[in-house]
Amino acid sequence: MVQSETGHVFLIGAGPGDPELITVKGLRSLRAAEVILYDRLVAPELLEEAHPSALRIFVGKQPQHHTLKQHEINALLIKYAREGKIVARLKGGDPYVFGRGGEEALALREAGISFEVIPGITSAIAVPTAAGIPVTHRDYASSLTIVTGHEARGGDEAPAINWEALAKLGGTIVVLMGVRALPRFTQQMLEAGMNPQTPAAIIQEGTTSRQRTLVATLESIALQALEQDITSPALTIIGEVVSLAHELHAITALPSVQDLLLSRAS
Ligand code: SAH
Repeated sequence: MVQSETGHVFLIGAGPGDPELITVKGLRSLRAAEVILYDRLVAPELLEEAHPSALRIFVGKQPQHHTLKQHEINALLIKYAREGKIVARLKGGDPYVFGRGGEEALALREAGISFEVIPGITSAIAVPTAAGIPVTHRDYASSLTIVTGHEARGGDEAPAINWEALAKLGGTIVVLMGVRALPRFTQQMLEAGMNPQTPAAIIQEGTTSRQRTLVATLESIALQALEQDITSPALTIIGEVVSLAHELHAITALPSVQDLLLSRAS
């Protein structure tokens, strides 16, 4: 039960980019919200789904602008909930996949705020899917590893990744937040003995109309991404499954459900 006197926070996964890829439950909660705190990766169209009177607060990172610290975001969530508001915390993909959603949930719990997590479709899986790359396939990969390219080097980033171990594990490897680190981690995997011809792809702004896919090899992808000016948000996928991209891409490049229905109606 949502208690309006004490407020309530929905930690909502907004999906990978295409605004239609939010869940039904996520959309319902968003429409019920009085205050919305949203990130840079959230599709702008989703904000139009909120109640016109809802307060919309951008809390994402923006170059050249003051960025709210995580503890400041937590404090805002708690403040509005204590005012009795229904708060939607809208995060890209799934809230608990590299989105610091776990930290926000713990802060809410500590503050005694009632909250609910609504899972989202993570970019780690949906972006390759939309680009025609199945993250697993019986003939090519029976494991999927999702890692961050933004590793610890003394800051508050995630702990360091053992790239050598990953190179040996094989299967499919998806690297989030790894555009800048691409030359470094591909080099480490090559040095660990991974086949330089292993197929690799980088996908920018996947599932949106701006999606760009670059298919290359482990050896060549870093240079090609640089040449083609691939920028964040993008993810890298390494493994034999990437070889299916050429065959399957055409199948996934269909019009949206809405376009399809509109064309039938006319
Ligand atoms: N919680 C999110 C991930 C947050 S980390 C999720 O579950 O999807 C942010 C990283 O996700 C980006 O740096 C990028 O690597 C990846 N990402 C998010 N949206 C993406 C998109 N539309 N296309 C490609 N990569 C994306």
